[in-house]
Amino acid sequence: MKNINSYRKFKRNKNEVNQDGEYILYWMQINRRLQYNYALEYAVALANKYDKPLLIFESVITNYPWASDRFHAFLLEGMKEHLDELKDTDVNYYCFAESEAGEMQGAFHALAENSVAVVADEYPVYIIRENNEKMAEEVDVPYISIDSNGIIPLDVTDKDPYSAYFFRRIMQEHFLEAYTNPPKKDPLDDLEDQKEVKLPDGFKEKYPKADEKLEDIPGFIRTLDINHDIGITDKKGTRQYALGKLGDFIAHGLHRYDEERNDPDADAASGLSPWLHFGLISEYEIVKAVLDHQPDGWDLDDITPNNGKNSGFFNGDPNVESFLDEVITWREVGFHFAHHRPDYDQFDSLPDWVLKTLKKHEDDKREWVYELEEFAQSQTHDEIWNAAQTQLRETGIMQNYLRMLWGKKIIEWTKDYRTALDYMIELNNRYALDGRDPNSYSGIFWCFGRFDRAWQERPIYGKLRYMTSDSTRKKLKLDQYLNKYGSQKSLL
Ligand SMILES: Cc1cc2nc3c(=O)[nH]c(=O)nc-3n(C[C@H](O)[C@H](O)[C@H](O)COP(=O)(O)OP(=O)(O)OC[C@H]3O[C@@H](n4cnc5c(N)ncnc54)[C@H](O)[C@@H]3O)c2cc1C
Repeated sequence: MKNINSYRKFKRNKNEVNQDGEYILYWMQINRRLQYNYALEYAVALANKYDKPLLIFESVITNYPWASDRFHAFLLEGMKEHLDELKDTDVNYYCFAESEAGEMQGAFHALAENSVAVVADEYPVYIIRENNEKMAEEVDVPYISIDSNGIIPLDVTDKDPYSAYFFRRIMQEHFLEAYTNPPKKDPLDDLEDQKEVKLPDGFKEKYPKADEKLEDIPGFIRTLDINHDIGITDKKGTRQYALGKLGDFIAHGLHRYDEERNDPDADAASGLSPWLHFGLISEYEIVKAVLDHQPDGWDLDDITPNNGKNSGFFNGDPNVESFLDEVITWREVGFHFAHHRPDYDQFDSLPDWVLKTLKKHEDDKREWVYELEEFAQSQTHDEIWNAAQTQLRETGIMQNYLRMLWGKKIIEWTKDYRTALDYMIELNNRYALDGRDPNSYSGIFWCFGRFDRAWQERPIYGKLRYMTSDSTRKKLKLDQYLNKYGSQKSLL
């Protein structure tokens, strides 16, 4: 039987390695961490196998969709952390930050040509998906992408999961095997050849390392042709920051997660999604840290597959169970969906029942209709919606329950469904630190019925699940939240 981790490997072009190559090239694109990273682990194993050094190439381009100061700063802070961590070691780490669009492609090609093989991060959406497809065709050495995204390897599913329940059944079947074959904490410890790599002639001059640019990140960012209107937030894009957040969550949020995660005032959720998105922290280590907080006496033998039900699988603390359902099932169902569906971001990828019901209601009269920038600047008639949008715009995050309401209302207050989808993708990915992620598309498309079922029919929504600000106000603790973000409206 195949080891579960073999489902993480995607050989994208040829098999014959370039024996004359100088190094194994690991292109760190999205899982930007040196720990608990299967792709890095695989690259180290290849380097040892071919008796070659390893070169880690981490890059940031300028012309990625929704490029802005906010995401750029986050990315560069992570690179700076790697630079600091590796500066007194023999690890060959080349960090590269484009000043002009297109430079990174040139740098990557030059490095790939001189390599034995390329190892890259597998990722099912956004430019990383495109990069892997395109670069594998363009290079003349083996290009292997490795999935280090979640607990259940992407290729374990053989088709797109249509619901969380369907995916949870698969998760329950494979969890123990996957969890007990974890990524290594420090894969670089196994690296045998620590020689300095020989870079292509003239490479360093043509594509200088980002080291100096990282000394003054805001100053460097100001020189770039990216969107400067989306400001840097107070959240640091480093692994240390993420580990601090995980520790805080376990100490203060986990024990009340099940009951309070939806209350904006309670602040009981982990807030880890931006760091998960940029791969600074791995899902595995979060799951491990949380499972270590099961009640005394609990162990892995208590895990009981229960045919996809959302409780009773982990069989311990209900808070742990509820959190793990979000971080494993809900996070990964979106990765697996996108992996099997290149059309993951297209309206027509919605289930048939959704397309049918929306067709029936497409001409329903809308009481309020807003344009994109009215939404962007929190200029609707609805106080809660405006506050949620202000939080997103100003801080780069939005609380989960309000995110659902936010999306549902955009459907209701936009002239037609396809425009609503475009607006949601634009606003989410323009402002959210965790945007441009498989879960951006799961969340947005969930508002349109993906992974959900049909509900009672009503105007505009058809059979989509319906949400209102009034019931949200009654159901959630929101006062402090509205004081904080509602009042900012006047600043705009
Ligand atoms: C319209 C809309 C847009 C969304 N856009 C994004 C996005 O761009 N990026 C993103 O990561 N998530 C998105 N989500 C899902 C969810 O809102 C966030 O993952 C969650 O709010 C992150 O906060 P947290 O880290 O405190 O989550 P916690 O409650 O602490 O959960 C831990 C982790 O589990 C995962 N998770 C939790 N809830 C969900 C969920 N409902 N769906 C999928 N994964 C989940 C996330 O990785 C999260 O970091 C969106 C949801 C909606 C309805």
